Amino acid sequence: MKLRFAERMRDVPKSFIREILKAAADPKIISFAGGLPNPDLFPVEGVQEACAKVLRDDGQNVLQYTTTEGYPPLREFIAERYRAKKGLAIRPDEILITNGSQQGLDLLGKILLNEGDGAVIEKPGYLGAIQALSIYKPVFHSIPLHDDGVDASLAKRIFQKNPIQLFYSVPNFQNPSGVTYSKAVREELAAALKEYGVLFVEDDPYGELRFMGEDLPSMRNYLDGDSILLGSFSKIVAPAFRMGWICAGKEIMEKLVIAKQAADLHSNSFSQRVLYQYLSDCNIDDHIAAIRCVYKNQRDAMAESIDQYLPSEIQRTNPEGGMFLWLTLPDGASSMMLFQAAVERNVAFVPGYPFYVDGGGENTLRLNYSNADESTIKEGIQRLAQAWVRMGL
Ligand code: PMP
Repeated sequence: MKLRFAERMRDVPKSFIREILKAAADPKIISFAGGLPNPDLFPVEGVQEACAKVLRDDGQNVLQYTTTEGYPPLREFIAERYRAKKGLAIRPDEILITNGSQQGLDLLGKILLNEGDGAVIEKPGYLGAIQALSIYKPVFHSIPLHDDGVDASLAKRIFQKNPIQLFYSVPNFQNPSGVTYSKAVREELAAALKEYGVLFVEDDPYGELRFMGEDLPSMRNYLDGDSILLGSFSKIVAPAFRMGWICAGKEIMEKLVIAKQAADLHSNSFSQRVLYQYLSDCNIDDHIAAIRCVYKNQRDAMAESIDQYLPSEIQRTNPEGGMFLWLTLPDGASSMMLFQAAVERNVAFVPGYPFYVDGGGENTLRLNYSNADESTIKEGIQRLAQAWVRMGL
C-alpha cells in the first residue's frame, strides 16, 4: 500500500539528539550528548514509599480516571510554590497538569498557531520546541542569544516588521546554551512585548537549579496574564513521571483543556497521586539543594577542564544553573567534524546546528554535565581536546 501522510508532518525535523544518543549508547563512550538528570539523585526510596502509601490508602480512587485539569492538590502545590518562590499570585485553576512540559509545547502549538503564523524562538533554541511547534507550520523568527539573553531592541524590530503570535523562550539556564537572561534584558524585553502585545511563553524547567548568582524575577512578574509559563518536575524529581504543567489565564486555559481532552483525556493520574504524596512527605527544598550542590561540582569540573585543556580560541558559556554548557569554536571550524573525531576517541556531544531554525551554528556544540561524575568529565574534556588537536585547525 502506498501511504500518504498529512502535510503537517512534512519537514518536521527528526530529533537529532535521539539519533546522536544512539551513537553515544556504547558504554565505552563518555557522553555529554544527552540531557539526562543525574540518576544518583532520583529519590527512589521516597517514591517507593509514596507509591505504597497511595495504593494502600486510596487504591480504588488512585487507579480511576480523573479530570483533565489534573489532581487538585498537585495544582495547589504548584500555585503555592509560585507564590512562595517568585511572589507570583497564581490560582490553582490557572494550572493544567501535562504529560511533561513537552506536551505543553504541543498543546500551545495546537491552540495558538495557524500555518504561517510568526513564532519567535531563540538562536540556538530548544530542539523539543522547534520540533513540537514545527508540526503547526509557523514561520520562525530566530533571535540570537548573547551571554545576557536576547537583544531586546532586535526583538522590537522583529515585532515591528512581522505579526508575531508567540515568543518562546527559556530565560533561565537555557537548553542548549546554559545562558540566563539578565534583569535588564528581562525588563527591556517585557516592555517590548507589552508595547506590541506579543504573547510570551516562558519555559522554565531549570529555574530552581540555580547554583551560582542570584535568582531573577520571572518574566511573568513583568507580564502578568500576557504570558504563559511552562514548568516541569522532570529535573527536580524525575523525568519518568512525565509530570509538567502549563500556567495560563482563563481564556487560554479553556482552549488548552479542550486540546488536552482530545489528546489524552488527562495525564497519568497514578503518577500525579504518587508525585503529590512524595512532595507532601519529603522536603523538596532539601532535595533541590542537594541537586544544586552536585550539579555545581559537575559544572565546575567541566568549566575548569575546558579552561585547562581546550585552547582559549574556543569560547564557552558560564552557566549559573541547569545542566548545559555551550561551546563556540573559531569561525570556519565544524562541530560535526569534531564530533566524528570525538566519537573515535570515545567522547560525544551534540553538534549545535540543529538548534538553529534558519541555518548557522556549524561551529557550536552543546555539552551536558549532569550525567557524568567529575573525574569522568575531566577525562571526557581531555579526549575532546585531543580530538580538537587531531582536526589540525
Ligand atoms: N523545555 C526545555 C527547555 C527542556 O530542556 C525540556 C527537557 N529536555 C523540556 C521542556 C521537556 O521536559 P519534560 O517534558 O520532561 O517536562
